[in-house]
Amino acid sequence: MVSDTQRRVIYVNPAFEALTGYAAAEVVGRACGFLQGPDTCPEAQQDMRRATDAGRPFRGELLNYRKDGTAFWNEVAVLPVFDVSGTLVQFVATQRDVTARHAAKHKLLLAARVFEEGSEGVIITDASQRIIKVNPAFTEISGYSEAEVLGHRPSILSSGRHDPSFYRQMWHAVDTCGQWQGEIWNRRKDGSVYPLRLALRRIVGNDGQTTHYVASFSDLTPRKAAEESIWRLANYDATTGLPNRALLRDRASRVLEQSRLDGAPTALMYLDLDQFKKVNDSLGHRIGDRLLVEVANRFRTALREQDTLSRVGGDEFVMLLPGAGVRDAARVARQLLELASRPFQIDAHELTITPSIGVAIFPFDGGDYDALCTSADVAMYRVKDTGRNDFCFFTADMQAQCTRALLLDNLLRRAVERGELALHYQPQCALRDGSIAGVEALLRWNSRELGAVPPQEFIPIAEGSGLIIPIGEWVLASALAQMRRWLDAGTAPPVVAVNVSAVQFRQAGFPDRVHRLLEEYGVPPGRLELELTESVSTDDPAAAMAVMEALHRHGVRLSIDDFGTGYSSLSYLKQFKVGKLKIDRSFVAHINENPADQAIVGAIIRLANGLGISTIAEGVETPAQMVVLRELGCHEVQGYWIARPFAAEDLPAYVEAHAASQLVLRPAPRDHARLRVRRRRLRTVPSATG
Ligand code: C2E
Ligand code: CA
Ligand code: CA
Repeated sequence: MVSDTQRRVIYVNPAFEALTGYAAAEVVGRACGFLQGPDTCPEAQQDMRRATDAGRPFRGELLNYRKDGTAFWNEVAVLPVFDVSGTLVQFVATQRDVTARHAAKHKLLLAARVFEEGSEGVIITDASQRIIKVNPAFTEISGYSEAEVLGHRPSILSSGRHDPSFYRQMWHAVDTCGQWQGEIWNRRKDGSVYPLRLALRRIVGNDGQTTHYVASFSDLTPRKAAEESIWRLANYDATTGLPNRALLRDRASRVLEQSRLDGAPTALMYLDLDQFKKVNDSLGHRIGDRLLVEVANRFRTALREQDTLSRVGGDEFVMLLPGAGVRDAARVARQLLELASRPFQIDAHELTITPSIGVAIFPFDGGDYDALCTSADVAMYRVKDTGRNDFCFFTADMQAQCTRALLLDNLLRRAVERGELALHYQPQCALRDGSIAGVEALLRWNSRELGAVPPQEFIPIAEGSGLIIPIGEWVLASALAQMRRWLDAGTAPPVVAVNVSAVQFRQAGFPDRVHRLLEEYGVPPGRLELELTESVSTDDPAAAMAVMEALHRHGVRLSIDDFGTGYSSLSYLKQFKVGKLKIDRSFVAHINENPADQAIVGAIIRLANGLGISTIAEGVETPAQMVVLRELGCHEVQGYWIARPFAAEDLPAYVEAHAASQLVLRPAPRDHARLRVRRRRLRTVPSATG
């Protein structure tokens, strides 16, 4: 390109046209900077400008643009042309596309930077494996400076952990395949040994001969340490150092596989420390943790090398005993109970704990780890239910119960929407005058598949699965809806009593929910009584009290169901807002024959009287029971003798019949005895006379 002193193009040659895509006619007369574009380096432009302004030649590389917009690296040489008088008359600029060279140079620069600044150590040797170059990372990792290793073989770095045949194989691979990769151990200048990931490459010249070897490596020490600590964290319990659930599962799958091959049994035990939570709550987690460590240490002594003792939860341990059948497992379980029975001394505290142990044997009680765990867990809960501090094997009977429970749970999920649930009502009568004091709503499930399922069977399952929440809500709503209908018909009993599960009671916002339902059905709160069990307050009496307070504020009545069977704290009873105690039917059943039961019932009634709480006896099946209850001062009775639970629509009929037979509640003991004798005579006379 030739341009004038104003830098206007005078001429371009065909090579320029070919290079840039511009035709001569298009560019002649234009300012000569038209090849420049957005990414052309401004400094290079300035340099060129400065040189040409001063009448000096310029040479440089610029990013320029063709007519079609594509960029290329242009090696530009500008020569100023002077006339004979020394005046600048023209510039002649030659242009050459050096994009390819530029890229290559760039790549080299990049490689050099990686070599110099990268974190991977690099060693370059000549064909005879003498070191000719190392990078700073090499020095940092190995501790050797470049001067110290130049001319040496890389073997000065070896750790001595690999035998000569290892290196022979490594070099053989490099020479035959061109490269080798792997993890090896090397030794630092300070003598310490470290793991590294090494990539070895053979470089060949144009003639196919080896010219160099290049080794690049990274120090694996930090990663190995991290891997190890991650592995420990993921597989061991931090408190006791025992394998955790993850590692247990891992080992179990291997042990069971082996068991399957050998045809040998394997025992899996679930062990739960009874009421360990109390230690934590009363003495703090620090003491609790130390107790766990001590317990773990003792348990370990009962196990063999090949057994696994793992901690899978707060106070839950699982033992895996490969090769152990029923007899071995029983022996170990007995030993664990014995080990736990001696008190633990933690600081000034002498602590005693009792374990509950459930045992399942592979392959009989479960075909895989999960099934085995479930079985052992079920067996453990059986121990808990029947008094703790013992062990128990999983049995076929438990198996059947589990299967049934699973079935019930599944069917129960659809029971509400399928309309299989119903409420029956059982009257509660005042002993004073025989009047109806209220009715208790009792849930009935008539399953399409199973027929009638007793609440004693399905309610605990619903409590376990949480299903009791929607079901309980349904019960409450249905009972209130029924009360509304009775009120509208003018046949309402004074109160409807609804059973509330502890699970439901503890649910956040329960009092508000009750309140909302009362409003929804327009039932005065005093018409509703909630029957709670003592278990609502076992875990957190303060919280239970707050809920009772709230319900009481809403005007709802409260009673304590099955009183005497749970662990009521009498001091709490005073503060609970309950209006009524329901004396459990187990005391009522033998009240006539068993003086102890009579004493208990009497004590409950006196206690309640003292606290201004009324009493009702449930499960009254005979007039004789009623008589004793009246003598003891009980206020109300409920039971088959008065009436069995019936459907809501039968209430009016009952009320009518009841009014007529109110005398039933009245007779004195002797009258009653006579009544019964007379009945019997009536029955026997005809047969005696033929
Ligand atoms: P519960 O609250 O103690 O209810 C009294 C149970 O005793 C009822 O059994 C009732 O039919 C039965 N019963 C009444 N009179 C007599 C009698 O004279 N003799 C005998 N042997 N039994 C009598 P049901 O209806 O089978 O209920 C059993 C348990 O199921 C109830 O015991 C209660 O704990 C629970 N339950 C029933 N309905 C509900 C409910 O809607 N919600 C909740 N959470 N639990 C319920
Ligand atoms: Ca009840
Ligand atoms: Ca009861």
